[in-house]
Amino acid sequence: MNKEEALVVFSGGQDSTTCLFWALRQFKKVYALSFLYGQKHQKEVELAREIALEAGVEFEVMDVSFIAGLGRNSLTDTSIVMDEEKPADSFPNTFVPGRNLFFLSIAAVYAREKGINHMVTGVSQTDFSGYPDCRDGFIKSLNVTLNLAMDEQFVIHTPLMWINKAQTWALADELGVLDLIRTKTLTCYNGIIGDGCGHCPSCKLRREGLDTYLATKK
Ligand code: ZN
Repeated sequence: MNKEEALVVFSGGQDSTTCLFWALRQFKKVYALSFLYGQKHQKEVELAREIALEAGVEFEVMDVSFIAGLGRNSLTDTSIVMDEEKPADSFPNTFVPGRNLFFLSIAAVYAREKGINHMVTGVSQTDFSGYPDCRDGFIKSLNVTLNLAMDEQFVIHTPLMWINKAQTWALADELGVLDLIRTKTLTCYNGIIGDGCGHCPSCKLRREGLDTYLATKK
């Protein structure tokens, strides 16, 4: 296993793009892996490819679109109206059941084939919408499981786990990619690049974080 290489689970959004550039600081060689999981906005994968190219990292896309048919959610099913607010007793219907479990499990097999033991994911427990597969406990548990499953020593890095969106923007700025992330990433649930539609939950979170961060810079 090569301790100087890392695989980033990469969607082309704000969080995973920040992680990609974070990884470039930490590791000698970085790979990016994107997934087609039946998401409505498949152009995010093309944007991811462009960012990876610009960052000079090896890029791969894997088709796991069966995930869309397994559990109903508003990110993959156009007949479901997206929750604009988080329901009080649950997570919003933008939750794709099993997504991070599948992504990281597939990424681990892919990493193993390449002799990589470091993996990076942009999940965060701090600003989360209540998605269980973004929590620290889940990631640590999966890390142990993957090691047991393949008798390997994978290390899953989560640089954003305990920071909020404003701090994620601060990290992007520190890494010298604030403008790139602001203009070239896609986080919006309505598929609009950069600053996005402005009213979906993802845009609101991103905008509030940016405003908070920019206010501290003045
Ligand atoms: Zn939006």
